[in-house]
Amino acid sequence: MTGTTVPTTMRASVLLKQGVVEMQERPVPAPGDGEVLVRVGSVGVCGSDVHYYKHGRIGDMVVTAPIVLGHEVSGTVVSVGRGVPESRVGDRVAIDPQVPCRQCRQCKTGRSNLCPFMEFYATPPFDGTFCDYVTAPADQAYTVPDSLSDESAALLEPLSVGLWAAHKADVGPGDQVLIAGAGPIGAMCAQAVRARGATDVVVTDFVDSRRERITSFGATRALHPVADAEEIAALRADAFIDCSGATPAVLSGISSTRGGGTVVLVGLGAEEMPLPVQLIATREISVTGVFRYIDTWPRGIALTTSGAVHLDDMVTARYPLEQVEDALNADSDPLSMKAVVVVNAPEGN
Ligand code: NAD
Ligand code: ZN
Repeated sequence: MTGTTVPTTMRASVLLKQGVVEMQERPVPAPGDGEVLVRVGSVGVCGSDVHYYKHGRIGDMVVTAPIVLGHEVSGTVVSVGRGVPESRVGDRVAIDPQVPCRQCRQCKTGRSNLCPFMEFYATPPFDGTFCDYVTAPADQAYTVPDSLSDESAALLEPLSVGLWAAHKADVGPGDQVLIAGAGPIGAMCAQAVRARGATDVVVTDFVDSRRERITSFGATRALHPVADAEEIAALRADAFIDCSGATPAVLSGISSTRGGGTVVLVGLGAEEMPLPVQLIATREISVTGVFRYIDTWPRGIALTTSGAVHLDDMVTARYPLEQVEDALNADSDPLSMKAVVVVNAPEGN
């Protein structure tokens, strides 16, 4: 291992069990072969972090031992493991948190996001990034330009979900896209489909403040699922992307999709729901899922740097590492969009 001097211990915010968070002192990890050690800058709070904190599980992924949450992360390379050029020390980076095995059939056929051996920050049993230092494969730590803030760099992770959803929806120039849910993921999808040239981006949500804000994040129209039901029903969208996980939204979205259009299910809410199979069959609608993303950071960096996508404006609250628990409760504020934990402020601040 080579690089600048790093301490031997660090701060880590640890979820001991459901609802209990504790600050601990832990050893700083050493970068292995092909890895970099990153001093964490900003970490976005994801709905999955909130879910592990409040419910102790997401489906069959259960918190059975203490775990560090957080996976939307940016920072600075402070040292490198064997095989990584020392010139990377000092790089400001955004990390793709997926570490697939690179050996299995899914990995070898271009579906590394579905690798059954995936290691992912903050998914049990793997620790996440609410701590001072993390290791990552060097090729998963993407260098970002100085013009991109630490916060924007961290939010390239949820943007990646939007970019992958827009890719799966095969959105093209001039398309009409319907998106259900104006939360952070809906906002990322709206920005991503606009960046691919969609010109009519209709986003639905019950929450007034979210509908009001979504027009700053890619939506051309924001509609209420009930009050505007007629307008929604009249749509024949080229693609529908569900970012709500709600059965009524999925059903209404499918019936607002044109013949030959695509339905992309991003929301992980209801585990099961009845589907209008005759309508799907007779309109030849393609229904597909989204699980995370593949190789979206280079595009995300380019789109954010060029100004086609705005991430900084999505941050509604900032917390120091000592207040991770407050950050995990930030979603109780209806005006909250994206909470960020500033683990280490940028140098000079
Ligand atoms: P969020 O809870 O902040 O946003 C969901 C929004 O949907 C809310 O604003 C809610 O008011 C709205 N909603 C509820 N019912 C609706 C309806 N009938 N019509 C329209 N809107 C409705 O969540 P988020 O962080 O934006 O994430 C969205 C979803 O995406 C979650 O289910 C999350 O688990 C999922 N997700 C999936 C992936 C993946 O890889 N598939 C990755 C990240 C997040
Ligand atoms: Zn694999």
